[in-house]
Amino acid sequence: MDISILYRSTQKYYDRKLEPYNITYAQLPILLFIFEEEGITMQKIVEMGSYDKGTVTKNVKKLESLHYVEIVASKEDKRVKHLYTTYQAKQIIAKIYKIRNDWWNHIIQDIDKKQLKLFEKMYSSMCLKANEYANLDLDELRFYEWRKCALNAYPGYISTVLKVGGCNLRCPGCCKKHLVFLKDEQQTIGIQDVKMYLEQNNSNIQAVSIEGGEIGLHPNLSVFFRWLKEKGFLVKVNTNGMYPQLLEYWISNQWVDFVELDLKGTMEDYPKVSGIHDLDTHPILQTLSILSSKRIDHRFTTTLIKEFHNEEKLIEIAKQLGTEAHWIWYAYNEKEESIQKGLHSFSAQEMRLLKEKVESYVGRIEIKCNR
Ligand code: SF4
Repeated sequence: MDISILYRSTQKYYDRKLEPYNITYAQLPILLFIFEEEGITMQKIVEMGSYDKGTVTKNVKKLESLHYVEIVASKEDKRVKHLYTTYQAKQIIAKIYKIRNDWWNHIIQDIDKKQLKLFEKMYSSMCLKANEYANLDLDELRFYEWRKCALNAYPGYISTVLKVGGCNLRCPGCCKKHLVFLKDEQQTIGIQDVKMYLEQNNSNIQAVSIEGGEIGLHPNLSVFFRWLKEKGFLVKVNTNGMYPQLLEYWISNQWVDFVELDLKGTMEDYPKVSGIHDLDTHPILQTLSILSSKRIDHRFTTTLIKEFHNEEKLIEIAKQLGTEAHWIWYAYNEKEESIQKGLHSFSAQEMRLLKEKVESYVGRIEIKCNR
């Protein structure tokens, strides 16, 4: 099967259709990334699209010179540059979506819905494998924070905690803005330093906890997981639940031993609590179903915020988690790195009272002060 025929034909079609707008096939996904997430940083596009930094910089500059994109320095930190589409871009975006739609409808016209669904599943699996293989040397994997020794990240074991950058959500209650809106010059930790540390400390460190940002944006973690398992480490991942297919892949390969799913609120409230107004919650439900199949140790976490949670909503979540679930409640603390300022936390007493009302619906609730 020569996939490059499909790629080359697609490129030819797009370059022809996009010519009147002076945009190329390479610039199209970058423009759409920016349109679909106004304010995104270049670094986040690099992470989300598995691009190299030079390609993104070159194409963003080109889109800026064409007056489709505006680069704005952050008010809080001038080194962080946010990208926005201009009025000129917004005027052509509907036409661009139509071009994309026409192409898709044309190429799938002879495939029925069932076959298409199957193809999407297979294609997705092939992309995961391809990405994994293409990054076999692991050099592309970067971490943005590293707590070398932690006692509470992996239940019952001494672990090292690594945080990846970039996230597909922008929860108002998030206190890790620096991991969501990545600065172009942000310091990163290379994989070789991590491997060396783990090899030298394998008698003390028993587990590795990979957190974010969102781990689902980094399929090349697969290669690192395989290395960790070969070396005998336990592996835990923290996720927002939006990448069930990748999680399933890691679990079925036995590369992950423990999953921590951070739930932001009731499913109905997700557009509000995730900061993405049109969020599809199906992937989160799929992740819940993977975890409830009991093939893997797991626990749930939620940061309680007055604007998003009350007794009724917490009972609704508790019922969804079930009577065997371990659910950790964190008290919300506004920080310098909070995405939205001015949210309100529950007092320790209020959390204790809520726990009394909710705990009969769920296995176990644990209250913690800090993440
Ligand atoms: S809280 Fe987690 S999922 Fe939400 S924006 Fe922050 S890193 Fe992403």
